[in-house]
Amino acid sequence: MAQILVIEDDAEIRRALIHALTERGHAVTSSPTGMAGLQGAMDPACDLVILDLGLPDIDGVDLLQMLRAVSAVPVIVVTARGDEQSLVRALEAGANDFVPKPFSGTSLDARIKAVLRRTAADPDAEGPITIGGLVIDQSGRIVTLDGEILDLSAREFDLLHYLAVNHGRVVSKRELTIEVWHQPYGGADKTVDVHLSWLRRKLGETAAEPRYLRSVRNVGIKLVDPKE
Ligand code: CA
Repeated sequence: MAQILVIEDDAEIRRALIHALTERGHAVTSSPTGMAGLQGAMDPACDLVILDLGLPDIDGVDLLQMLRAVSAVPVIVVTARGDEQSLVRALEAGANDFVPKPFSGTSLDARIKAVLRRTAADPDAEGPITIGGLVIDQSGRIVTLDGEILDLSAREFDLLHYLAVNHGRVVSKRELTIEVWHQPYGGADKTVDVHLSWLRRKLGETAAEPRYLRSVRNVGIKLVDPKE
């Protein structure tokens, strides 16, 4: 069960969302406007936000940018079909996932659970993460690649660990800035780029010939098992 905030102006969709999520055991609050929703999203009790991008008072992506300046609360954006541009902007702005309209309660609930698993995982309580030949041990802060210990700086470790916790998902540079550097976004993407290139070198790969670290143009980066 999670405390979920629904920000959606369409009364019918809002009611359907509240019903579907309540039925699946979540506690749901809602807001028909962006500004009131932003206020609610900053409440520490809020576990996850469902955000409609088409809102009457503020653009959903602008809202997300404002929220990400102060909070890393997981956000799933809801988009109309064919609105790829807003979707890319939303992912860049730090959305954790998206669902296209129309969607079923079951698929939305599955996305919610996946996002909560990824974001709420207590890294200290977990064993090492293995991805291909990479083993990332959070408790000892040790990374091995094909059995060899990698010499990583603290920041490189944090960056790799965050990507490993989220492996298989495209993580935006904005999200890395917030989650790894603990800074609101603003000109720090160069810092992220530099650390990614250092990390690449230590993993024995290049941007032109990636193995574990795959760039997704205009969206971000994801860590994958090169054999997958
Ligand atoms: Ca709407």
